[in-house]
Amino acid sequence: MGKLYVVATPIGNLGDITVRAVDVLSSVEAVACEDTRHSGRLLRHIGARPNQLIRSDAHTEQRASTRVIELLDAGHDVAVVSDAGTPGVSDPGTSLVAAVVEAGFEVVPLPGPSAALAALVASGLPTERFVVEGFLPRKGRARQEILSDLVAEPRTVVIYESPRRLGATLVEFAELFGDQRMASISRELTKLHEETFRGTFSELAAHFDGVVKGEIVIVIGPAPPPEPATVEVVTEHLEKLASAGSDRRSGVAATMATLSAPKRMVYEASLAVDWPDLTV
Ligand code: SAM
Repeated sequence: MGKLYVVATPIGNLGDITVRAVDVLSSVEAVACEDTRHSGRLLRHIGARPNQLIRSDAHTEQRASTRVIELLDAGHDVAVVSDAGTPGVSDPGTSLVAAVVEAGFEVVPLPGPSAALAALVASGLPTERFVVEGFLPRKGRARQEILSDLVAEPRTVVIYESPRRLGATLVEFAELFGDQRMASISRELTKLHEETFRGTFSELAAHFDGVVKGEIVIVIGPAPPPEPATVEVVTEHLEKLASAGSDRRSGVAATMATLSAPKRMVYEASLAVDWPDLTV
């Protein structure tokens, strides 16, 4: 049975192709790729001549999966690449891998470049826990909902952004995240004009003011842990819930979920509040 190799490719600097990627791309029967012309150039550069290039982009991935599974079934190995970086990370590849797994064939990852990880490790921000948001929705409610979650996000966040929208995004983020949240922007990683600039969003907005060129990753540091709530703040919160009709049990649970306070303190404060469920 053939295998599907998921092959990461350079995000700018061709020197970042791995020895194993060259071996695999040179030996497979077919390479599935987003853009056959673009990946054809990389394959020529490394001297790989697969018998087939299969177009597999956002619109054609399903059809490509059928073809790839036929080849695997016939005993051929196939590789999947995206235009740059790791397939499936804000790029096509996920549906193809899922279809191949579903069909019972082996999937072998070949790790290599990814803009998200490169920007994360260059940021100087915590890396123990991180989340890759990819591209944010451009506007509307979907964007607002994600952003309001990110304000309290305790993990480092990695976001892809277009250079055209960077200026407006940084002004928006400076307002939203304030001057306590540290961040970093990596531009043109692995290329001639590579830069990583670190600071608050106001500092980043000042640095990237005007026309920005190249490819961009934004990394946002974790939100600071919430200040522990005082007994007065807890009581006020409980009273608001009680006057809105909440019972004591739900009021305690909602307060625990909203404020940073020990359960015992919230429970004891709840004993001094008039709850509708306890009124006769
Ligand atoms: N799958 C890719 C990966 O693993 O890196 C990401 C694909 S996503 C469609 C492309 C985005 O990645 C770009 O818009 C940019 O935000 C980021 N990116 C790609 N190459 C980059 C580079 N050399 N420097 C900075 N960001 C880059």
